[in-house]
Amino acid sequence: MTIKQKFMILYYLFLFSNGKMDNSIITAAKLIDVSRKILVFTGAGISTESGIPDFRSVGGIWDKYNPSDFHLQNIISSEECRRKYWEMSSEYYKVMKTATPNYAHYSIKHIEERGKLAAIVTQNIDRLHHRAGCSSEKIIEIHGTAFLVSCLSCGTTYERDLIEERFIEYEKIPICDRCSGILKPATVSFGQAMPEDKMNQSLAYAYQCDLCIVMGSSLVVYPAASIPEIAVENGARLIIINRDMTPLDHKADVVINDSISRVMKSIDELSLSSA
Ligand code: ZN
Repeated sequence: MTIKQKFMILYYLFLFSNGKMDNSIITAAKLIDVSRKILVFTGAGISTESGIPDFRSVGGIWDKYNPSDFHLQNIISSEECRRKYWEMSSEYYKVMKTATPNYAHYSIKHIEERGKLAAIVTQNIDRLHHRAGCSSEKIIEIHGTAFLVSCLSCGTTYERDLIEERFIEYEKIPICDRCSGILKPATVSFGQAMPEDKMNQSLAYAYQCDLCIVMGSSLVVYPAASIPEIAVENGARLIIINRDMTPLDHKADVVINDSISRVMKSIDELSLSSA
């Protein structure tokens, strides 16, 4: 890339950010350039840019349903709650299945291609990191996945599409083929513990990484939010890209409150121009 082209990119960034954001983007690009073990932590905000509504946001699913019906205990004890849960979950799954990754997802793939990605720890259950081409062994889904269903009694796992076909055709409350137990999407529900192995794996990366990039998480859901916190406490640098402020902003090297895909595109352009 020529000096003139580099200048044009910087000029474009300056215009686009009204002179405020270019420094943050340049600093973030430099931090990525000098880091070797990057932990990317993603939350609902990266998925909303792919058209998947934030599960917890007001005006979405909770206008139609009562969240307390979907506590694990109620799903187990009440057939009516199970029926409602499957109805809601199926509706949400259809949106996730048809969604496609956005630039932010692909930018993480670019970090992997540069040999810098330690792991992606995601709070999302939509598999968009997989679909963007990131290696599955690098992705830790701490809240599980909507693309599998498991039996709460015997642990048998099914492909979600298989169960969805049955659900649509005749079975409003799917049950396990092996033991007739309760089937539930393999996601962490309210009142359900986080999978210990995935949490431990994530913590190990938090201790080892030299840079943590938070994308689209408000960092209020614990214990997931403790992962970037531990990374910083152990000497990692921190970049936060999120629409809103987070409780960890004061510990970050760079905070950018803007569209993640737009920010990552600008960072990529800078990184490529300096490569
Ligand atoms: Zn079973």
